[in-house]
Parts: sequence; C-alpha cells; structure tokens
Amino acid sequence: MTKNVHEQLVNDFMAKIISKNPGETEFHQAVKEVAESLIPFIEENPKYKTSKILERIAEPERVILFRVPWMDDKGEIQINKGIRIEMNSAIGPYKGGLRFHATVNLGILKFLAFEQVFKNSLTTLPMGGGKGGSDFDPKGKSDNEVMRFCQSFMTELQRHIGPDTDVPAGDIGVGGREIGFMFGQYKRLRNEFTGVLTGKGLDWGGSLIRPEATGYGQVYFAAEMLKTRNLDFNGKIVTVSGSGNVAQYATQKATQLGGKVVTLSDSEGYIYDPKGIDAEKLTFIMHLKNVKRGRIKEYCDKYSEAKFVPGKRPWEVKCDIALPSATQNEIDGNDAQTLVKNGCYLVSEGANMPSTPEAMGVYLENKILYGPGKAANAGGVATSGLEMSQNSMRLSWSREEVDEKLHTIMINIHKNCVKYGKEPDGFVNYVKGANIGGFVKVAEAMLAQGLV
Ligand code: NDP
Repeated sequence: MTKNVHEQLVNDFMAKIISKNPGETEFHQAVKEVAESLIPFIEENPKYKTSKILERIAEPERVILFRVPWMDDKGEIQINKGIRIEMNSAIGPYKGGLRFHATVNLGILKFLAFEQVFKNSLTTLPMGGGKGGSDFDPKGKSDNEVMRFCQSFMTELQRHIGPDTDVPAGDIGVGGREIGFMFGQYKRLRNEFTGVLTGKGLDWGGSLIRPEATGYGQVYFAAEMLKTRNLDFNGKIVTVSGSGNVAQYATQKATQLGGKVVTLSDSEGYIYDPKGIDAEKLTFIMHLKNVKRGRIKEYCDKYSEAKFVPGKRPWEVKCDIALPSATQNEIDGNDAQTLVKNGCYLVSEGANMPSTPEAMGVYLENKILYGPGKAANAGGVATSGLEMSQNSMRLSWSREEVDEKLHTIMINIHKNCVKYGKEPDGFVNYVKGANIGGFVKVAEAMLAQGLV
C-alpha cells in the first residue's frame, strides 16, 4: 500500500477522533503520532483492523470528573477540578500519575493517559494505562493548604481506585509530600494499608530508586542509543530542561556517566553554567527546589559563573545531548533546527511529548538518535510497578537490586524499539518502534478478552 493511502487512512481516522473529542488538541496530537506509526502496521495485520483495536484504545474505558472543594489559609473557599482517566485495563490495573498544575484539563490528561497505555506495555510489567490530576497549582501554597486540597481530592478519588483496580502515582506538582497526604487520607477512609499509590515514602511502603527512576531510566535509554553508534556520555555536553524530579535525577545520572550538564530551567527561564552542574551544585538545587521550593534563577545568586536567561528555553545552548524534562511541547520545530544546527545528535525525552510534531520531523529527517517519551521515560512507571510488587510481597528490595532491574528494563525497552523500528538502511526509528512495540501486547490481550 502506498504512502498516500496510509496518509488518507490516518486523516480519516483523525477526523473521527477530532469530531468526537473537540478542542482536545494535545490528545489529537498524541493520537495522530501513534496512528501514523500504527496504521501501516494494522493494514498488514487485518485482525487488529476488523476488531477496531486502535479505535477502542483511543476511547477511555472510563472518565471520572469531580469537584474538589477546600479552604485556604485565609478561610476562603476554593474549588478545583478533579479528573481521573481510566484508559485501558487490558494488561493490568490502570496505572499512571496525577498532575497538579494550573494548565491541567481533560485533553491534556487524555493525551497523557493514552501515551501511558503504550509506555506501560513497553515496560513488560502487567500495568494498564491511566492518568489524572487537577488544575490546582501547588506553587505558593502552604503545606497546610496542600494537605487540605489533597485530602479533599482523595475523599472522592478513593472510591474509584484500589491496588487491583487503579494505582495512581506522581507527576508534575505531585511528589513525595502530596503522595503522603493522599495516602494518609485513603488509609483513613478505607481502613486499609495497601499499595494503592506509588511514590510512597521509604518507611511506609515506598521503593528505593523510585524518586530517581524516571531521570535515571531516561539516561540509561540514551546510553543504549549512544551504544548503537559506539558512543557514550563521557565528555559530552548535555542540556536539560526543567528542574523538578525528572530533571534532577537525569542530571545526576548523566554526570555520573561522565557527561557535563550545563542547563536547567523552570517556567521563568533557564540557567546556563558553562562549568557544569556537578554533584555539589545539584545538592544545592535539590534543596532549593524540593525543600525551599524556590526558583531556578536563585542558582545564579550562589554560583556566579552561571547566568539566568529569562523567558527562554535552553535549546539555544550548544550541546551533544538534549534531555527535555519539563513539559509537553517545550521543543518546537525551530528549537529542533537550532539543536541540530549546533551539533546535537541525541534527544532522550524525560517529559511526556516535549517535542512538537514539527520537532520530531526535524529529528527524523536528520536521522539523529531520538528516544520518544513513551520509551525513554518509562523507567518511572516501571519502578512504580516494582514498588507494587514489593508491596504485594511485603518485602523491600535493596537499592542495587531495584536499580539493576530498572536498568535491565530500559535495555529491554530499547531492544523492543529496535525490533520494531529498524528501517532497511539500518536507521532506528524509535517512534515507530515504541508505538508498535507497545501496541502489540495490548492489542493481543484485547483480542483475547473479547469485545469489552
Ligand atoms: P516536577 O513538578 O517535579 O517538575 C516539573 C518541572 O517542569 C519544573 O521545573 C517546572 O517549572 C517545569 N514546568 C512545568 N510546566 C512547565 C511549563 N508549562 N513551562 C515550562 N516549564 C514547566 O515534575 P516531574 O519532574 O515529575 O515531571 C516532568 C515531566 O516528566 C512531565 O512531562 C511529566 O509528565 C514527565 N514524567 C514524569 C515522571 C515522574 O516519575 N515524575 C514519569 C514520566 C514522565 P515550574 O516550577 O516553574 O512549573
């Protein structure tokens, strides 16, 4: 079948998705990217076509919308939205993070839940896909306000989740503090101490390496991609965006492997430190962001060799390797052109869908090593899966044991992407590889389970 026929099939499929889900632009974007890889594959495997597997995967099994009322420190009533998307449970309980950010809406959470289905399948662990969150913005809120919000959020969410039903975790704006408050409220209401959330504290059911997992996994995946060209991190200049959980541990692992990380960012701009962000500087950043809850520009007050560039993203800085680790659509076509022009030959995504379709086009055209988020950042949810296993067995594995399992999972995800993504000229299209690799297991399970 020709390229034009495939394009027409994708356009017809997307016209239906857009009319059924109006205004949900990020969701359309995520579905289109997957459809472009999958439709040619489905045409070659008609059993998936007649069973309308792709159409079914693009429709959430369940969407839960609820009101989250809470009282701020001034005694004023606040109302936020609560959302949980239970996308697909063909291969295991729904699994995926909660995002608390002012920009959260249904379309953003549906894109994240959709991506999560493929990502969780790629980990090889038995986890379905889900995602949730709220338009609540934890920035500038006191600990007490965050606690009251989390308690109100969980008061409703608890009736829909459970260790064998739906197991949420963290995402933007949801870290150890928020998971703690939500777990406490779940336990109080249900009178059960179970592995219903992952990302828990170490003393109450959490797994070693879970905080590190997404960033470490992103770098392990990058290292596997580098190996295909006989390269490694040693001496490479690395740009990282974001300065939250994923960015911090991506910086740590890239540095441990010999790379020099020269940027970090937040929504106000980026810092550039030509001398590199070493272990001591990273400790300062972790305290600044995780304890003081400050802004990344404060780094320059402490380290005078660094400069803060307001209102911009770090992609104009010359680098070998880029590790986007902040948010969706943070690299557009022009940014991607700049990266490639400056010699960047590897992009490994810690964030979900940080590259626009135009940016992805630039990477693929220039045949650089490009690891899309659903493969490269799957280490976070994989280690959440390992946390669930430890909770079920009532055991805790050592740091080394979890790190080794994480590393092995990332190597296997890379192999799976190569299996489905290698093109006749030897170039590995990791987008295609991740989409098809993630799809097959879910599709087979759906076929086996009948029309449900
Ligand atoms: P955090 O909340 O810890 O950090 C988010 C970082 O991104 C902050 O520095 C934040 O800056 C920045 N950021 C958020 N929104 C924007 C925006 N609109 N524009 C510019 N910068 C922004 O989140 P995580 O580190 O957990 O998540 C980062 C990314 O990684 C997300 O895409 C998430 O979905 C993805 N991810 C996370 C996983 C995890 O295990 N945590 C797993 C897999 C993927 P500011 O403080 O100014 O908002």
